[in-house]
Amino acid sequence: MSRVTEIARILGCTESNVCYLLRRGRIKGKKTSAGWMVSDEAVQEYLASPKVQLHPIKLKLHKGQKFGYWTVLNPDAERSKSGQRTALVRCICGKTKRVSIIDLLYGHSRSCGCRRAENSSPGQQEGREKGQKIMNQIHQAGLSPAYLDRRTNRNSRSGHTGVCWRENMQKYYAYIMVNRKQISLGLYTELDDAIVARKAAEEKYFRPRQERVDAIKKGMVKD
Ligand SMILES: [Zn+2]
Repeated sequence: MSRVTEIARILGCTESNVCYLLRRGRIKGKKTSAGWMVSDEAVQEYLASPKVQLHPIKLKLHKGQKFGYWTVLNPDAERSKSGQRTALVRCICGKTKRVSIIDLLYGHSRSCGCRRAENSSPGQQEGREKGQKIMNQIHQAGLSPAYLDRRTNRNSRSGHTGVCWRENMQKYYAYIMVNRKQISLGLYTELDDAIVARKAAEEKYFRPRQERVDAIKKGMVKD
């Protein structure tokens, strides 16, 4: 199998989609006489890039494609209420559902839930129910589960979350995502200045939210 075919499988798109991304440099690779040389890290980096996260891949899934216990019934994307692109899939148990394409590609969703209980102890099940209760409360409050110290996507050139290199401006651009909206924190000649701007914005926007989330989590544990 050619590398392009392999990547097309991983991304769930056509080979020409992959060639386009490689030519544009969106996925980093080297063209050789033997074809494209692309590292696994480069593919992961592409999947984790803010652009893909912000504008979930416009790539198409294929009918019959399998993700865990899901089989794609209808790959045509439809927006969910929260704006996520979803595909119609059927679980091995027969249940059909629209599931976020990103969740499928990332392996975040592997079944309707019927397979999850299979290998878990009562303790794990109890923990999961508690976790779901906490998540419900957090979402009802319009919050996210973690704001600070979370594992985030790092921009490849700057190596820092919320800071990316703007080639056309020859400057670092700092930004922060708040409630799915990108807030610009300005352009900087020095990387350090961009990082400082980002850190300050985290304190301003994330700290109060993190405190509210922590309070919910604590409250739930007492119950
Ligand atoms: Zn199922």
